[in-house]
Amino acid sequence: MPVISTPQEFNVDDLYVDLRRLSGHPLYLKCEGFNFAGSIKLKAANEMVSAAVRAGTLREGATLVESSSGNLGVALALVAASRGYRFLCVTDARCNLATRQLMEALGARVHVITEPDPQDGYLGARIRYVKQVCEDEGYVWLNQYANPANWMAHYQSTGPEILKSFPEVDVVFIGAGSTGTLMGCARYFKETKPSVRVVAVDSVGSVTFGTPAQPRLLPGLGTSVRPPLLDESFVDEVLHVAERDTVRACRTLLRHGFLFGGSTGTVLSGAADWLTRNRPDGDVTAVAIAPDLGDRYLDTVYRDQWISDSYDAELLAEDAMLARRLP
Ligand code: PMP
Repeated sequence: MPVISTPQEFNVDDLYVDLRRLSGHPLYLKCEGFNFAGSIKLKAANEMVSAAVRAGTLREGATLVESSSGNLGVALALVAASRGYRFLCVTDARCNLATRQLMEALGARVHVITEPDPQDGYLGARIRYVKQVCEDEGYVWLNQYANPANWMAHYQSTGPEILKSFPEVDVVFIGAGSTGTLMGCARYFKETKPSVRVVAVDSVGSVTFGTPAQPRLLPGLGTSVRPPLLDESFVDEVLHVAERDTVRACRTLLRHGFLFGGSTGTVLSGAADWLTRNRPDGDVTAVAIAPDLGDRYLDTVYRDQWISDSYDAELLAEDAMLARRLP
């Protein structure tokens, strides 16, 4: 019986969806969306705050500030409330309303950037604003894109959790945003079980791994500025998934009753392709990480009107066809 005294103590570390029947691949999905912040970012938020306290950079009365597309913002709002700090979240127009309201309900102040930087996109504009705020005393920028405590959180938790649940694991599929999850797990596996193949999954249009920028609509995965945390020497392979395939994967999962977030669809789509190409015999144990659940995507991925407005009616028609084919 888990008994907790702070919300950040509750981490569902051994909950997996067995996708073998549903996807036809030997794939297990690690569900990170069942903590009180609703996403994997609670681990990074808590560890970055702890590290700043240990280093003496975060003192009583300080205001935390961070750039986030949503999930880290919610996680930091929770950690700030729980540990007694103020928090300013700098986000952009792609952050959905429910996420913003949640941060505000937790006591955070939210600043929304509405104009992307012509060169560095929304992320560049967000970071410029954060730096401006930090010129005033009393603000502490955790900087998830360069903070080693971000990957350390996953080196200490997510990586070991996967290995404990699946000692036979052969390949892991990890979505890349700040690359904290990816770098922490990759470093852990390279040290403890180097035979594990670490596959990064990014979205088409993200510049993280050196491909050209293109418009992207879904938050979570991908960047418009390469994250300093990334060290590609720890990563065995990189996959790029189109947002249309993300949408298809999410909506297929939902038809089986699983409401997952956008990046879970991205990671699963990449994983299914990889397994079809590389292990058609199915003789492998694969784990993919699901960073959050789908309730914050009801106005995007799961809304028909948004799909036809954002992509085209064809994608929606195809989705309806798939739905009819289900038993
Ligand atoms: N998926 C979702 C839904 C996220 O919010 C994030 C973090 N922005 C990621 C994936 C990527 O995680 P990380 O920042 O550790 O690379």
